[in-house]
Amino acid sequence: MTPSREEIVSENREYTLFSWSVQSAANPITMVGGHGSHFVDADGNEWLDIASQLININVGHQHPKVIEAIKKQVDELCFAAPAFATEARGKLGKKLAEVTGLAKSFFTLGGSEANENAMKIARLVTGRDKIITRYRSYHGATMGSMTASGDPRRWPVEPGIPGIVRAFDPYCYRCPFGKEPTSCRRECVSHIEEIIQMEGPHNVAAIMVEGITGSNGLLVPPDDYYPKLRALCDKYDILLITDEVMSGFGRTGTYLSTQHYGILPDIVTSAKGLTSGYMPLGAVIVNQRIADFFENSMLWGGLTYSSHPVSCAAALANLQVYEEEHLFENATLLGAYLAERLEGMRASYACVGDVRYKGLFTVIELVRDKETKEPLAPFNGTSPEMQKLAGHLKSKYLYAFSRFNMLWICPPLVITKDELDFALSAIEEGLALVDEII
Ligand code: PLP
Repeated sequence: MTPSREEIVSENREYTLFSWSVQSAANPITMVGGHGSHFVDADGNEWLDIASQLININVGHQHPKVIEAIKKQVDELCFAAPAFATEARGKLGKKLAEVTGLAKSFFTLGGSEANENAMKIARLVTGRDKIITRYRSYHGATMGSMTASGDPRRWPVEPGIPGIVRAFDPYCYRCPFGKEPTSCRRECVSHIEEIIQMEGPHNVAAIMVEGITGSNGLLVPPDDYYPKLRALCDKYDILLITDEVMSGFGRTGTYLSTQHYGILPDIVTSAKGLTSGYMPLGAVIVNQRIADFFENSMLWGGLTYSSHPVSCAAALANLQVYEEEHLFENATLLGAYLAERLEGMRASYACVGDVRYKGLFTVIELVRDKETKEPLAPFNGTSPEMQKLAGHLKSKYLYAFSRFNMLWICPPLVITKDELDFALSAIEEGLALVDEII
């Protein structure tokens, strides 16, 4: 018999530690199953998951084709140490080279470890040690990736690893350089050149940025941001690493979010949408120059479970589902509809300061006052108004991700228009409630 919600929660709380939580404040929802855009809790409630769990379960919950591929791989071969060659690993590497335009993949267990290895590879290849990252960024929770992150989640591990230098972000709604689109001269790129000069170009191995910044506010860069950043990297022979852990693999309607901007990074990191979370897997995908470097030079890295065959098989099936079911096209089409609805919210609700979107990667930024742009919750904090909004969504069994003064709408790529409409109605009701109290 399935245990009750109370039994599941109390055993979890008594014997396990929840991540990113003060344990006494952890208030987990249970999960016992799911299908498509919904998951089911232990009381039988069906939740519409517009957070795609952690913005990763892109093919939706319990997709039969991915499940079948995992079962088949488990029957054939559960494990091979990373020095062995397996069919799934080779096929996945080949597929990733095809869809990214890069050369070779190094497989990891997830996104944080992918970023650790990307930084390590950049240092090995260039012989330089500094990595420029941005303030409004998250690159993971292992020591190096946490240090590389710019957001407050890095504070507890500081000073962390040496050599991280941070730059400001292309955050046009609150431009760190005080510019408006009409007066902007892309200071968000040109000040990085100044940083390079101050740090010594011969010391800078790489610039590492999220393809499109995710959990720090979905910052969609201006169209010429990436071409300018690419040119800057070329000028100083610095590697461009794009962290596509959240923004890649269909979330914005393309394999890589930078494909919207017509540039090719030197290194791409991926995880989340690579397997849609069905098995743990990350990848560091490198260009030919880097692949060639390791022909005669040691790649210092790898864990017991690197290139796990079951994870590689899950990823292959997941990528096949994306293509067979035209899920990137769905992300583009429904993304355009969602963008229209978000623009409507910006026009209709006093608390909606900004909306940002690319495909099914979207956010609403809430303010107390549109003129002053005062955030509805402080940086690194919450507020009764944000909690009211979250409480309303929860009462509708709508599972959404919110942080500080922002609410993300990032549903599985399989979401239907009816499901999206249901979610948007609930969100609009919540925004109306907030408007009443600000
Ligand atoms: N990079 C980005 C942009 C992320 O959003 C995340 C996780 O949310 C990570 C890296 C870390 O990935 P993981 O949790 O798989 O280690």
